[in-house]
Amino acid sequence: MPDHEHTKTDGLGELPAVPAAAEAVPARADWRAAPRNDKMAAHKLECNACPVLCQISEGKAGACDRYANQGGSLVRVDPVLIVDRRLAAGAAGALVPFLATPAGPDAAGLAVAASVVESPAENPATNPATNLATNPAGAEPADGERWFVTAVGASTTYPDYKPAPFIVGSQVQGVDMVTVVTEGIFSYCSLKLKIDTDRWLGPEQANVRCKGEVVGHVSTAEYGSQMLSLGGVHHITGGSKKEGRITVEMMQALGNQQAMELSIDGGATIVVQAGRPPIVNGQPETRMRVGCGSATVGIFAEQFKGVADEVVVVDDHITGVLTEHQAGRCLQMRPSGLKVRGRKSTPGRWFQVANPGNGWGGTDLSDPLAIVEGWDAGQAWPGQRLLFTSTTGEHAAWYVLDAALKPQPAAMPEAARTIVERIGENCEPALCTVLFIGGAGGSLRAGVTDNPVRLTRAIKQAVVNVTCGGAPAYVWPGGGITVMVDVTRMPARSFGTVPTPAIVAPIEFTMRASDYQALGGHMAYVRPLAQVLATGAWHRDGAPLARQAIAAGPANAWPLASGPLLG
Ligand code: SF4
Repeated sequence: MPDHEHTKTDGLGELPAVPAAAEAVPARADWRAAPRNDKMAAHKLECNACPVLCQISEGKAGACDRYANQGGSLVRVDPVLIVDRRLAAGAAGALVPFLATPAGPDAAGLAVAASVVESPAENPATNPATNLATNPAGAEPADGERWFVTAVGASTTYPDYKPAPFIVGSQVQGVDMVTVVTEGIFSYCSLKLKIDTDRWLGPEQANVRCKGEVVGHVSTAEYGSQMLSLGGVHHITGGSKKEGRITVEMMQALGNQQAMELSIDGGATIVVQAGRPPIVNGQPETRMRVGCGSATVGIFAEQFKGVADEVVVVDDHITGVLTEHQAGRCLQMRPSGLKVRGRKSTPGRWFQVANPGNGWGGTDLSDPLAIVEGWDAGQAWPGQRLLFTSTTGEHAAWYVLDAALKPQPAAMPEAARTIVERIGENCEPALCTVLFIGGAGGSLRAGVTDNPVRLTRAIKQAVVNVTCGGAPAYVWPGGGITVMVDVTRMPARSFGTVPTPAIVAPIEFTMRASDYQALGGHMAYVRPLAQVLATGAWHRDGAPLARQAIAAGPANAWPLASGPLLG
């Protein structure tokens, strides 16, 4: 099998070349080039927020539905989301339009031009009740302790060298902080799915399909979980247009915590959704195994002793046989004489007792006795009590050996039932986890600093906190800025797509103002939080027109008071 596979290829797309020369994109104050099509109708404008360069008629949206032509101006149609720690969990504030202001950076960098603020009651720049920056110390938290501007809806830095749309100055515990906020356009990005189930989803390396297109593969299984690796640059750019489009649509949906149906070549059809139980071949999963068969035998060995003469915990990976296992030996249990099919790893621990499947313990078994080769007549005895269970306790059966040393089904004693139920009790709820991995070490750094490697270094030196929609992002060791974030900790609908194709995802970089200056930040574009809340992005070409407050993620550390999650 190839290391990655595409459904088919149809050659390169028809996208226009990205401007390469400085003269192609004049460094004007509005960072906008002349339209590529000089015959473009007068009622249209060219969106320059991504390489697609949509020509958008007045009143219409572009191909990604994220930008629109509103009265001849390019606007970002969604509000920028701003975390307000005063909101109750799950609550959202009303849309608050930004005041119209002149475009461009403030000449003095940090100066707030009071004259541009027109005085709506909810405007923090003019209303003392919400103007945390000017309230007496102690009466209110500093502004940076209450508000955090996320990049969801913020707009982008395309064509890359433009300063990030929001570069926010705020205060936390008397320290001047800066948060650089931008939506990133990610071609290098993927999802890692952890699916808590014993059920066999398919062979490792098997293709995972969405709507018939190959969008990823089965990765290495983990303890109690099957893993999928989805998306990635090879499926986004290396296959057909359809493969790339379906891949980013799938990633967007899963990133936005929606359900997706996926099929695995030679395996199962699954429905996965972040934070929800997986559905495998139409069957909702409920329990994540307490441990492998060997671990389950060891954990409950003392409880089993005296209740059963032999216990077999059936597991596709490591089946445990109690009396042969070291736990049974330590408890001085009498050897049962049970002989198990499969490959013996170590005493009482058996590999490959059956094929993988959706039956007992992730095997294809519906009858646990299928793994029994027989009993040693020199050790076994009539009346021997046998408990077979799976690693989740969902399957369990009780047998007693008859005079011919044949297992006969029997009613399970209450004491044995109680242990099986305890196995189930110790299983955690089976869930799907969706982690977004994005490569932020590329062009979007230019929106932060004119010397991008300094940003990379500053992150690795724990000087800069990296968040995605306010959620903590783990930064992988090694080169570049490869971030990984749990999508359930991000705001709903954090992800978008553009037809290049690529994923749009929020990213914020937070640091002390002095560190921002030291790494060559765009200091002229730093604006106080109060001004940002009042007037929005520094530019007026594709910027959001409104903001919306959201509650802080209950599991998220406050981005302005935390260091990065470094690997
Ligand atoms: S796809 Fe969206 S961001 Fe890209 S040019 Fe079109 S409207 Fe603008």
